[in-house]
Amino acid sequence: MEKFSTATVRRLGAWAVGPCMPAWAVLGGLAFFGRLSWTAALVSSVIVFVLMATLVLARLADFDRIIRYAEELLANPDAPPPLLETSVTAQRLLAALTAVRKLWEDRRDEADALAKSRQDILDSLPDPFFLLDRRRRVVSANAAARALFDLDRAVAAGRDLAGVIRDPKVLEAADLALAQNRKTEAMFTLPAPVEHTFGALIVPLSSTASDGTALIVALHDQTERLKMDRMRADFVANASHELRTPLASVLGFIETLQGPAKDDEEARERFLDIMLKQANRMTRLIDDLLSLSRIELREHTRPTEAVGLEALLRAATELLDRMAKEQQSTVVVNIAPGLPPAIGDAGELSQILHNLISNAIKYGGENGRVEITAEISDTRPPAMQGKGSCLKIAVRDYGEGIAREHIPRLTERFYRVDNARSRQLGGTGLGLAIVKHIINRHRGALVVESEVGKGATFTVYLPIAG
Ligand code: ADP
Repeated sequence: MEKFSTATVRRLGAWAVGPCMPAWAVLGGLAFFGRLSWTAALVSSVIVFVLMATLVLARLADFDRIIRYAEELLANPDAPPPLLETSVTAQRLLAALTAVRKLWEDRRDEADALAKSRQDILDSLPDPFFLLDRRRRVVSANAAARALFDLDRAVAAGRDLAGVIRDPKVLEAADLALAQNRKTEAMFTLPAPVEHTFGALIVPLSSTASDGTALIVALHDQTERLKMDRMRADFVANASHELRTPLASVLGFIETLQGPAKDDEEARERFLDIMLKQANRMTRLIDDLLSLSRIELREHTRPTEAVGLEALLRAATELLDRMAKEQQSTVVVNIAPGLPPAIGDAGELSQILHNLISNAIKYGGENGRVEITAEISDTRPPAMQGKGSCLKIAVRDYGEGIAREHIPRLTERFYRVDNARSRQLGGTGLGLAIVKHIINRHRGALVVESEVGKGATFTVYLPIAG
């Protein structure tokens, strides 16, 4: 039989006293009325207590074990159940308690699984999320939020939002959402490592969750959208400006021809010539703008034709022959034998070649030399998706070249290294932007290498058909 502590023995003793009371009362009564000697009554009372205590020890000890087990469960949910000795009722009670414990364990596992799946869902979302309590402290943050603010899971929890996002607009919006129980929004900028602008959507929950979550803060990176908005506005302003200049000049000449130079034959010839040039410039600009918007519309659908590059290259150089002759430039084409076709759109690939070769002739200067090579490249540049070999078309000139700082911006619309020179050469500032969009559509890449004074090489990489 197991050893009982003094406290247990005392409790079991106390339990034995209760059931003895009626017997003691009867014995006391018998002694009082002289039916039993006080000594016999006392001895009988002791015997009754001993018998009762033995009974209690045997029967109620099991219940005592169950009580101790239940008390232990509060501190240690994995405490082992006790071994019972005699009482069938106690066995049933223990079985019921074990069933309740199992139910509770299942519920706990369910709650844990639910919390874990909630965290997994939040972690899989690409946008950063914070769950906050009513005092604006972080309950949890998803993986994107932890990565953005360089937080540890443990460090994030319990922190005031002010310790994570230090922008007063966001904190005010969070306070307002909590105070007025309504959705709020705020924008803020993170300066490092690269400046990013985020929109924060702050939504209060209809009731506080069991883990204390009362507010959701969802961040969305707006940098790209704002950049696109700015680019669109700049583009409209630039395009209008580009058109307004030749238009103003044409209008000016018309007025002069109608007024002061009405009868000046020689001026009329000269002015008409300039007007023709300006009108041609506007036409080129409108053509380029239309090409650009057409290509942009199709940019997400990949071309599927197999296009032989040799014929395209020959056609492009023939078309530019007059321009090359005017500049006394030499254009040399070198095509690797047996070059496979590219996956592409013949019209768009012709446009790439036309734009690059005409630039090389234009910026290659008088008596320049333009070398065009088309071959297979075993490796792809980092900017091109996929693996394996691809087609490589390089257009090289030995002209003025381009300073390093301009190279990354050459494919922006209307970006020119030298505005006046580009206009004087009849450039619209859109040629390379068109090239870039076509190459994007073809899932290819454009690499520009140049050194000032030594010329430039524009290399186009395209996927091979088949
Ligand atoms: P543009 O109509 O002005 O030629 P592009 O978009 O074709 O417009 O080119 C943008 C700018 O890139 C040009 O204005 C020029 O400054 C520069 N550029 C393009 N090709 C060359 C080249 N082969 N050599 C030197 N600079 C070039």
